[in-house]
Amino acid sequence: MTHSPDGLSLIDLLARNGEQASLHERAARATRQTFGDEVFVREVVELSNFCRENCHYCGMRRSDRALERYRATSDQLAELLLNHLPESVTDINLQAGEDPVAVREVAIPLIKLLRSETELGISVCLGTLNDALYSELKEAGASIYILKFETGNMGNYEMFEAPGTFPERIEHIRRLAADGWNVSSGFICGLPNEGPEDWLNSMRLAKSLPLSGCSVSPFVPGELTPLAGSGGADIDVVLNAMAMMRLMRPDWVIPAVSALNICQPGLGYRRGLRTGANLVTMNMTPAEFRGNYVLYKRDRFIMDEERILKSIEAEGLRPSRVGLADFWQSRRKAAVLT
Ligand code: SF4
Repeated sequence: MTHSPDGLSLIDLLARNGEQASLHERAARATRQTFGDEVFVREVVELSNFCRENCHYCGMRRSDRALERYRATSDQLAELLLNHLPESVTDINLQAGEDPVAVREVAIPLIKLLRSETELGISVCLGTLNDALYSELKEAGASIYILKFETGNMGNYEMFEAPGTFPERIEHIRRLAADGWNVSSGFICGLPNEGPEDWLNSMRLAKSLPLSGCSVSPFVPGELTPLAGSGGADIDVVLNAMAMMRLMRPDWVIPAVSALNICQPGLGYRRGLRTGANLVTMNMTPAEFRGNYVLYKRDRFIMDEERILKSIEAEGLRPSRVGLADFWQSRRKAAVLT
């Protein structure tokens, strides 16, 4: 195995023991040098599990006719977010299956309300939409768009029926960034039919895109999906990929995803924070809906306020008082001035 000229090597991706510890320490140091000991704290609300897409790795794909579908109302979520938001939260992420009805009827009115009543930063993760909806979301007050490319392997993207087409997905990421959004993307590490070279290529693709942040999500075989019988990701490889991404882009915001705790209960999430992550997400989806937002399985590992704050503290970190959206806005201003 050799190091490649771009610094992304199989040696690092597959590192174990002392070499792995050294890689993770370097990544943690790079994070602390750029962001100090603060992590951004965002709240996610999953506003609809309707989806017109059919991704093989997801339990909310349209072909799953047995799944009970829900769409929250903006009033219901407004009550929750305006009256019950934990103090440590600076940003909200509104997430859904690819459901344009929920975008129009729930997300946009809710964003307008949040913008007028709060200082919260607003991210959206609502899938591939048309230009008119992107503009409406932005005009309403959202500034961060999360659009994952899922895999850098175009053939697998098609085979797994990931949203639309691979070129279209990449084109939308570029277009959103060109239109002034801070775009965060991500890929799944450990998908069937993929191996370490594919995950290195996913990192290379991420590096080539105009991103402000990127996630590495471990593949977890969803029980209601065509991939239910496949093996799950190796958490050590996922954490190595996170560390390599941090070293590749010290300035990116990299989330610790809750699925890390599915891979290694009780410890996976904290290991993510030790490996270069600097964003945590609390889940505030109303309890009546959570069970049906089945990316993987019904028995979800919910990162609530208590679990998040304990994980942050246990790693010697603290919640950032500066919000993510404000952070990126100040970076943009600084870039304009220099
Ligand atoms: S991953 Fe997203 S777009 Fe794909 S089926 Fe699931 S909710 Fe829909």
